[in-house]
Amino acid sequence: MLTSSHHAAHHADVVIVGAGVSGLAAAQHLIAAGVTVTVLEAAADAGGRMATASADGFRLDRTGQLLTTASAELSRTPGLEALTLRPFAPGVLVHTDGRQLRAGALTPARALASGSLDQARLSAALGRLAALPEEKLLARPERTARAALRSRGLPPRTAHGVLRPLLSALLRDPELTTSSRVADLALRTFARGRLAVPEGGAAALPDQLAAALPPDTVHTGVRVRSVATNRVTTEEHGTFDCRSVLLATGARAAADLLPGLRVPAFHEVTVLHHATAGPLPWDGSLLLDADPAWPVSHTAVMSAVDPTRAPAGRSLVTTTVLGPPPPVRTVASRLARLYESATRDWELLAVHHTPEAVPAMPPPYDPRRPVRVLAGLYVCGDHRDTNTVQGALRSARRAAHAVLRDFGIPLPAPQEPALPVAA
Ligand SMILES: Cc1cc2nc3c(=O)[nH]c(=O)nc-3n(C[C@H](O)[C@H](O)[C@H](O)COP(=O)(O)OP(=O)(O)OC[C@H]3O[C@@H](n4cnc5c(N)ncnc54)[C@H](O)[C@@H]3O)c2cc1C
Repeated sequence: MLTSSHHAAHHADVVIVGAGVSGLAAAQHLIAAGVTVTVLEAAADAGGRMATASADGFRLDRTGQLLTTASAELSRTPGLEALTLRPFAPGVLVHTDGRQLRAGALTPARALASGSLDQARLSAALGRLAALPEEKLLARPERTARAALRSRGLPPRTAHGVLRPLLSALLRDPELTTSSRVADLALRTFARGRLAVPEGGAAALPDQLAAALPPDTVHTGVRVRSVATNRVTTEEHGTFDCRSVLLATGARAAADLLPGLRVPAFHEVTVLHHATAGPLPWDGSLLLDADPAWPVSHTAVMSAVDPTRAPAGRSLVTTTVLGPPPPVRTVASRLARLYESATRDWELLAVHHTPEAVPAMPPPYDPRRPVRVLAGLYVCGDHRDTNTVQGALRSARRAAHAVLRDFGIPLPAPQEPALPVAA
């Protein structure tokens, strides 16, 4: 919260609107370059969409984000040095045609040795994508991911049984209307690392960014009503003078504050958390459901991936549905099949529905959308890049660099320390 005496004394070079990961990351980049920053956040807590609730020893992500260990931006963002990623088991487990197969975990030679030509082809295709420089990938013809999947001559079992559910989960887009270039970028990142989650819950990431900022940088409970290049007006805390303003809200709030900005379509997502009565003997695999007749996109025993998320002796199962909340009985019955375990005793801990979870990215889509509106006014967030944590962080770095250029401050040399990955 902000006191009025505090506000009267307050002035910063840059006012950032929004304390989601993009706003916090931008603050980190600017402060590291010697610029003074104030971050104003409407909600009671920082973190935006990356929120985690605690309940009876369980850590429940509101949104269940999947990160990857290959995300360069996690290593490039100051303040995340202490972030630990908990990786899923290699590749993904796909439930397709009534059986489960692991995909994306083997080299082509090993897949061949295991007797699966389809798996070998898939591993080879992923390997080629992993090796492709990003510029080459972004120069490929662009259409929807669904059309690209149909045209690439892959066997139906690979295209529809594995890649379709994998891409739907990575893009949070069940119809695969996303740009094929963005889909290729997502597959490339998948192929280069391991899917992972932050230890302790999604909120660990913004919490660490916020904790590494100087005291009194972030002010929560402050809703911004209007912005100009040198001034921000809030609903209840007066005005803030500054040299530049950076909007780091979601796409809709950004367009409300800057009416020239486009409001994209959105994908909606529902996340369900179940606690099992006892430990569920299941590894830390991400399990994809390839049967579109059922509502589940992907599910995992999150406590097997990150043991800090459940109390001893219980397991936490987190399930993502790409759409509105389905009847909970339907989900429970599908989970019983997917986990080959009775779910009668499972306790439903939470259902989180986010109607505007992520902005849609249909073709033609520029994953490096401009972040400088004009000198003094900038915008960042997942709607200016890919609709991911990685995209939000990268847009924040691009926007911070645009501010520094306009201030005449030299850009910092790139640093890429390795991020700790838990075994
Ligand atoms: C259900 C769901 C699943 C997801 N799954 C994944 C995934 O698997 N992998 C992945 O990488 N990403 C995923 N994402 C996307 C990822 O969470 C977002 O891309 C990222 O968190 C966006 O961060 P941001 O800072 O751009 O925006 P936000 O987190 O939306 O932050 C914007 C902040 O601005 C504040 N604000 C808005 N208006 C005002 C105002 N007027 N004044 C002051 N403050 C204001 C908001 O309160 C908010 O805190 C998912 C998101 C959801 C919702």
